[in-house]
Amino acid sequence: MLRVQDLHKRYGATEVLKGVDFTVDRGEVKALLGPSGSGKSTILRLMALLEAPDAGEIILDGKRLGVSVSGGRVSHLRERDLARQRTDIGMVFQRFNLFNHLDALHNVMLGLTQVRKVSRSEARDRAHAMLTRVGLAQRAGHFPSELSGGQQQRVAIARALVMDPKVMLFDEPTSALDPELVGEVLAVMEQLAGEGMTMVVVTHEVRFARRVADEVALFDSGQIVEQAAPDEFFDRP
Ligand code: ADP
Ligand code: ADP
Repeated sequence: MLRVQDLHKRYGATEVLKGVDFTVDRGEVKALLGPSGSGKSTILRLMALLEAPDAGEIILDGKRLGVSVSGGRVSHLRERDLARQRTDIGMVFQRFNLFNHLDALHNVMLGLTQVRKVSRSEARDRAHAMLTRVGLAQRAGHFPSELSGGQQQRVAIARALVMDPKVMLFDEPTSALDPELVGEVLAVMEQLAGEGMTMVVVTHEVRFARRVADEVALFDSGQIVEQAAPDEFFDRP
């Protein structure tokens, strides 16, 4: 369903991705592990269409993302078309990235009213439903500063989910949280996985990867150096 093919990316003299390939089937959870600086965040930013690769392709349901092909000619998409493609891909960042001047409900509504042009009343209903799904129905009117880190991250998950994405990307979603708040975020992610959401998760939470992931890919220096089912991956001597 999602295929990453020979992705290359460099920043100045640094080659950050040196040809990365993998596939994620529908309903599959893929965990990306590896040392800091190995390119895990970069690959998620490319998949989320926040940056363009130097070479390689990202293919979702058979369609190349980020480019349009007409008459064999390939051109980069305009910002408006990119914004539309991005709604198929939900992204959750390490640092929640909520709007501080909006309450939880309006943070979740924003993409629906601005990008999807959904009416305010429908957006409100759908945002409420998503906040309920992540266990925050009672916090809809709270601003980010009035929420714990775990609650803020669950709002961020609801904000991504409300767009009805085909795939959800998580970039170290719990590593900015106090330890006692990690569990509530992982629980929401595990619930999503159980509901059949297709997910790519960059994480250091080995126990989570072991329990929830269908496959684990190990990054090192801009490449995948090992890929296996969790049992095989973690139990190897
Ligand atoms: P990871 O997520 O595995 O920690 P990253 O993808 O964040 O790795 O980074 C991989 C490498 O790319 C690092 O050396 C980092 O400093 C570099 N890098 C990431 N983003 C940029 C950028 N916007 N400009 C320059 N270098 C970057
Ligand atoms: P992390 O590794 O936890 O993702 P970083 O500190 O590497 O965080 O990166 C934070 C942000 O800074 C990212 O958006 C990344 O793109 C950017 N960045 C990282 N390294 C560089 C760099 N060498 N030059 C410019 N931007 C960078």
